[in-house]
Amino acid sequence: MSKIFITRKIDEAVIDELKKSFDVEVWDSEDEAVPRDILLEKVKESQALLTMLSDQIDKEVLSNAPLLKVVANMAVGYDNIDVQAAEKAGIIVTNTPDVLTDTTADLAFSLILATARRIPEAAEYIKKGDWTSWSPYLLAGHDVHHKTLGIIGMGKIGQAVAKRAAGFDMDILYHTRSRKTEAEEQFGAQYKSLNDLLEKADFVLVLAPLTDETRGMIGAEQFKIMKESAIFINVGRGPVVDEKALIEALENGEIAGAGLDVFEKEPISKDHPLVAMKNVVAVPHIGSASTETRFIMMKLAADNIKAVLNGEKPLTKVSV
Ligand code: NAP
Repeated sequence: MSKIFITRKIDEAVIDELKKSFDVEVWDSEDEAVPRDILLEKVKESQALLTMLSDQIDKEVLSNAPLLKVVANMAVGYDNIDVQAAEKAGIIVTNTPDVLTDTTADLAFSLILATARRIPEAAEYIKKGDWTSWSPYLLAGHDVHHKTLGIIGMGKIGQAVAKRAAGFDMDILYHTRSRKTEAEEQFGAQYKSLNDLLEKADFVLVLAPLTDETRGMIGAEQFKIMKESAIFINVGRGPVVDEKALIEALENGEIAGAGLDVFEKEPISKDHPLVAMKNVVAVPHIGSASTETRFIMMKLAADNIKAVLNGEKPLTKVSV
């Protein structure tokens, strides 16, 4: 019987379904990633891995996996997996595109709103008992409607955010390597060079994947081009942004605020300078975290494993 190792506690219903046909073992923790030595041990005897974005599936893991046929990542991003090395070893890698698009777009848009309208700060203000009277500029933030949104990485999630932004009467700019004519037609989005987008946008939103090309794409030079009133949002991957440069840009008033779901090093510590800043809204990589969507992602990852182990075509294979 083929063996599947699942690197984190997932829904029992998904596990039970796999158990009908396979030998399944789970790293049964909700808040601790599988320790590296255990992953290296388990992969030796597994035909399939169901992984999380917090697992590094690199050359060392892949070369320790003589029986491995498939790595099913429970995320659309797959920068945690050496896909080239997997392909070379004949191991299929799958991800979970599409099913998380709207949920992640909701989170991206809520970060735009929360940062601009200072929602966490305002909620904290009441909790601390600081509200003594109404006043005209009390916790006044900035408008989102009728402003300009610049999306870097206008893929599935970027376009779902553009749809939401169109409902807020925003002007939409985007930057990718290739033109997205559907987004131009549907939401009036305008294609811009990166510098042009940075210069004109009130909200700069990163939704590009982490690749060799995008690593460090937003740094000191890019923050200097942005408006001093600009709010920077990152829902893509932390290392797309030079975090030191982001901290400096916020400290020096080169930009007005930031809404962050992803960080250079995750989990970010509570003592990190970004976490202490009043004009930063930081959340712990919860882009796709609705119970409905997370269940569908688990199920899709499991279905990919089932297909490969049954000799069928995987549903959502990654290729490089
Ligand atoms: P997608 O449909 O593949 O979109 C990615 C977009 O990025 C494409 O439009 C691509 O267009 C663009 N892109 C790639 N390289 C680029 C570059 N060098 N410069 C500018 N744009 C570039 O993927 P998606 O489903 O929208 O997801 C996007 C990313 O969001 C994922 O890779 C993942 O890292 C992140 N994500 C985060 C969360 C979260 O929880 N925070 C959840 C889901 C996804 P071109 O190829 O034309 O450049």
